[in-house]
Amino acid sequence: MPDSQLSLITQKIIAFRDARDWKQFHNAKDLAAGLAIEASELQELFLWKTPEEVSQTVSSKKTQISEELADITWFLLLLSNELDIDLIEAVTAKYEKNAAKYPVEKAKGSHAKYDEL
Ligand SMILES: [Mg+2]
Repeated sequence: MPDSQLSLITQKIIAFRDARDWKQFHNAKDLAAGLAIEASELQELFLWKTPEEVSQTVSSKKTQISEELADITWFLLLLSNELDIDLIEAVTAKYEKNAAKYPVEKAKGSHAKYDEL
Protein backbone atom coordinates (compact mmCIF):
# COMPACT_ATOMS: atom_id res chain seq x y z
CA MET A 1 0.00 0.00 0.00
CA PRO A 2 1.41 3.44 -0.90
CA ASP A 3 2.26 5.84 1.88
CA SER A 4 -0.47 8.33 2.70
CA GLN A 5 0.04 12.05 2.15
CA LEU A 6 0.10 12.37 5.94
CA SER A 7 2.87 9.80 6.19
CA LEU A 8 4.85 11.48 3.40
CA ILE A 9 4.65 14.95 4.96
CA THR A 10 5.55 13.46 8.36
CA GLN A 11 8.65 11.88 6.84
CA LYS A 12 9.57 15.23 5.29
CA ILE A 13 9.22 17.03 8.65
CA ILE A 14 11.24 14.33 10.42
CA ALA A 15 14.00 14.74 7.81
CA PHE A 16 13.90 18.53 8.32
CA ARG A 17 14.21 18.02 12.09
CA ASP A 18 16.94 15.40 11.90
CA ALA A 19 19.06 17.48 9.49
CA ARG A 20 19.13 20.15 12.23
CA ASP A 21 19.72 17.71 15.10
CA TRP A 22 16.56 18.92 16.86
CA LYS A 23 15.24 15.53 17.96
CA GLN A 24 17.11 16.07 21.23
CA PHE A 25 14.56 18.83 22.03
CA HIS A 26 11.49 16.94 20.89
CA ASN A 27 10.14 15.10 23.90
CA ALA A 28 6.38 14.62 24.28
CA LYS A 29 6.04 17.42 26.85
CA ASP A 30 7.68 20.05 24.69
CA LEU A 31 5.97 18.93 21.50
CA ALA A 32 2.61 19.15 23.29
CA ALA A 33 3.56 22.62 24.53
CA GLY A 34 4.59 23.65 21.01
CA LEU A 35 1.24 22.41 19.69
CA ALA A 36 -0.66 24.46 22.28
CA ILE A 37 1.49 27.54 21.68
CA GLU A 38 0.88 27.40 17.94
CA ALA A 39 -2.87 27.00 18.57
CA SER A 40 -2.65 30.10 20.79
CA GLU A 41 -0.91 32.00 17.99
CA LEU A 42 -3.88 31.15 15.78
CA GLN A 43 -6.30 32.36 18.45
CA GLU A 44 -4.32 35.57 18.88
CA LEU A 45 -5.16 36.55 15.30
CA PHE A 46 -8.84 36.71 16.34
CA LEU A 47 -8.47 37.96 19.90
CA TRP A 48 -10.88 40.75 20.92
CA LYS A 49 -12.32 41.03 17.44
CA THR A 50 -16.02 41.46 16.77
CA PRO A 51 -17.71 38.95 14.42
CA GLU A 52 -17.33 41.51 11.61
CA GLU A 53 -13.63 41.99 12.39
CA VAL A 54 -13.15 38.22 12.45
CA SER A 55 -14.58 38.04 8.94
CA GLN A 56 -12.23 40.80 7.83
CA THR A 57 -9.29 39.02 9.47
CA VAL A 58 -10.11 35.77 7.69
CA SER A 59 -9.76 37.67 4.42
CA SER A 60 -6.89 39.99 5.23
CA LYS A 61 -4.72 37.53 7.18
CA LYS A 62 -5.35 34.35 5.23
CA THR A 63 -1.62 33.72 4.80
CA GLN A 64 -0.89 34.11 8.52
CA ILE A 65 -3.84 31.88 9.41
CA SER A 66 -2.60 29.28 6.94
CA GLU A 67 0.89 29.43 8.44
CA GLU A 68 -0.44 28.95 11.97
CA LEU A 69 -2.50 25.96 10.83
CA ALA A 70 0.66 24.58 9.25
CA ASP A 71 2.59 25.14 12.50
CA ILE A 72 -0.13 23.34 14.46
CA THR A 73 -0.07 20.46 12.00
CA TRP A 74 3.74 20.36 12.11
CA PHE A 75 3.73 19.86 15.90
CA LEU A 76 0.79 17.46 15.72
CA LEU A 77 2.65 15.25 13.26
CA LEU A 78 5.87 15.37 15.30
CA LEU A 79 4.00 14.54 18.51
CA SER A 80 2.02 11.69 17.01
CA ASN A 81 5.24 10.32 15.51
CA GLU A 82 7.02 10.60 18.87
CA LEU A 83 4.17 8.74 20.58
CA ASP A 84 3.86 6.19 17.76
CA ILE A 85 0.22 7.10 17.24
CA ASP A 86 -1.25 6.68 13.77
CA LEU A 87 -3.34 9.83 13.31
CA ILE A 88 -5.55 8.31 10.63
CA GLU A 89 -6.39 5.41 12.92
CA ALA A 90 -6.85 7.74 15.90
CA VAL A 91 -9.20 10.08 14.02
CA THR A 92 -11.12 7.15 12.59
CA ALA A 93 -11.57 5.64 16.05
CA LYS A 94 -12.63 9.02 17.45
CA TYR A 95 -15.08 9.47 14.59
CA GLU A 96 -16.77 6.19 15.51
CA LYS A 97 -16.83 7.16 19.18
CA ASN A 98 -18.31 10.60 18.44
CA ALA A 99 -20.88 9.12 16.08
CA ALA A 100 -22.10 6.92 18.92
CA LYS A 101 -22.03 9.81 21.43
CA TYR A 102 -23.75 12.26 19.12
CA PRO A 103 -26.39 10.40 17.11
CA VAL A 104 -27.88 12.65 14.43
CA GLU A 105 -31.41 12.22 15.74
CA LYS A 106 -30.37 13.66 19.12
CA ALA A 107 -27.55 16.04 18.24
CA LYS A 108 -28.71 17.72 15.05
CA GLY A 109 -28.81 21.48 15.58
CA SER A 110 -27.81 21.20 19.24
CA HIS A 111 -24.61 22.38 20.91
CA ALA A 112 -25.30 20.31 24.04
CA LYS A 113 -22.63 17.96 25.33
CA TYR A 114 -23.35 14.28 24.67
CA ASP A 115 -24.37 13.60 28.26
CA GLU A 116 -26.94 16.38 28.11
CA LEU A 117 -28.64 15.39 24.86
MG1 LIG B 1 3.28 29.99 14.56
